[in-house]
Amino acid sequence: KVRVRFAPSPTGPLHIGGVRTALYNYLFAKQHGGDLVFRIEDTDSTRFVPGAEDYIIEAFNWLGIKFDEGVSFGGNYGPYRQSERRDIYKKYVQQLLDNGKAYIAFDTPEELDAKRKEIENFQYDNKTRGQMRNSLTLSKEEVDQLIAEGKQYVVRFKIDAGEEVLVDDLIRGEVRVKSDILDDKVLYKSADQLPTYHLANIVDDHLMEITHVIRGEEWLPSAPLHVLLYRAFGWEDTMPRFAHLPLLLKPIGNGKLSKRDGDKLGFPVFPLEWHDPKTGDISSGYREKGYLPQAVINFLALLGWSPGNDQELMTLEEMVNLFDLSKCSKSGAKFDHIKAEWFNHQYLLRQADADWCPAFDKILKENGIEATAEQEAEVVRMMKTKVVEVVNNDGTKRKRNISFASDLWPLTKFFFVAPTEFDHEGDKFIRKNWNENTAGQMRQMTDVLETITDWNVEGLKAVIDPWAEQAGIKPWNAWRIALVGAGQGPDMYELAAFLGKEETIRRTRKAIE
Ligand code: GLU
Repeated sequence: KVRVRFAPSPTGPLHIGGVRTALYNYLFAKQHGGDLVFRIEDTDSTRFVPGAEDYIIEAFNWLGIKFDEGVSFGGNYGPYRQSERRDIYKKYVQQLLDNGKAYIAFDTPEELDAKRKEIENFQYDNKTRGQMRNSLTLSKEEVDQLIAEGKQYVVRFKIDAGEEVLVDDLIRGEVRVKSDILDDKVLYKSADQLPTYHLANIVDDHLMEITHVIRGEEWLPSAPLHVLLYRAFGWEDTMPRFAHLPLLLKPIGNGKLSKRDGDKLGFPVFPLEWHDPKTGDISSGYREKGYLPQAVINFLALLGWSPGNDQELMTLEEMVNLFDLSKCSKSGAKFDHIKAEWFNHQYLLRQADADWCPAFDKILKENGIEATAEQEAEVVRMMKTKVVEVVNNDGTKRKRNISFASDLWPLTKFFFVAPTEFDHEGDKFIRKNWNENTAGQMRQMTDVLETITDWNVEGLKAVIDPWAEQAGIKPWNAWRIALVGAGQGPDMYELAAFLGKEETIRRTRKAIE
């Protein structure tokens, strides 16, 4: 059975590249009827950031990416938080020591620094380990003595020279590396009694029966080391397949999109807003910016993968069916936030009326408007049919390019706030539709409006239509200017019905004052 994992380190908010990695794992798992595991890799206590784990869980919740097991989800392979698996790692570190695959090293930071000064490009490896203070150069008694004295040590992986390491990557093909160039990586530190990422990662992937490791390209250089660790443990037969995903690049240039880029470049790089507990800084998030989770998922899916045709809009289910790891690109994917906005626009327009309401309610509140749920629903309905499309002066319809629900405020303000200024010179629509006869017509119209008792769309239509016909005038555009203040808006009877008799007449009068 396919088992994949997403294994973030809680060192801060989840980067959008991490979201993409999790998404690809999700798509791959679901496509194969497999499981997606959520593991927290928190063995580096110096980089731990409080709140990061909760943030990550909340982000996936919002995005609709569901895990089958892991931290906060439970499962049979737990615990899923590495800091709770210390004893497990100790056992496996000991196994490597016992088999001569690893050794204990006592070198202090000062000693290592001195070596770095002495030897150019110093690397702790098969060439230099003989000159250092470790269990390969010291006697067993000396080693035991140092440990008994309480000297801190690390356990290093003993990488033998002259081996060829093959990483068979599902995206990159065969990557071959000579073991000679690899250093003896630290696997465990006595100071905090914790393993490093490499050891914990391999032990957990093995024990959790992970079949495929799908992760960012930044881990490709570690993959040969991981292959050697599987070998050292004798787990080669069940070693997972690797797939290293292309990097996400900045919109301009070729640099990697970093956590710091977001607000500098004018778009979020985090799914949710992040409040840094140390600095108090706030970084913007897709959710707070007004993105719909489906739009975020859709545009991320296409950063580094394409279904091979022109299809761009896809539901999560469609993506599960179409996704193909081997079709992922090797080269970096440029992040395009204009395209991200386009996706949001598409999803906004396809959204059901009811789904607009919470966002719309928030916008109204932010602008100090108290409206009932019925009023909100009514405005959403009118806006969906007409306001997000504007009628041009030539009568053709054109979609208003709304990328976010918040873009609706300037377009819908008139439902709640009467226009105060009429730009008779500057506004083309007003210039065209307001002339010396208009005031007279509007005055007549107010008189007619006063007579209407049945104030709803039908009642208005039944009185205004015949009056306009008989008077031989077309009052609509001028009336629109009076009620809206511009050439946009819904059907005039619907708007008048929404505003009510008093407000409609008040606005009509005001325009001709
Ligand atoms: N903890 C690593 C990270 O933060 C996981 C890397 C991997 O998937 O092996 O990305």
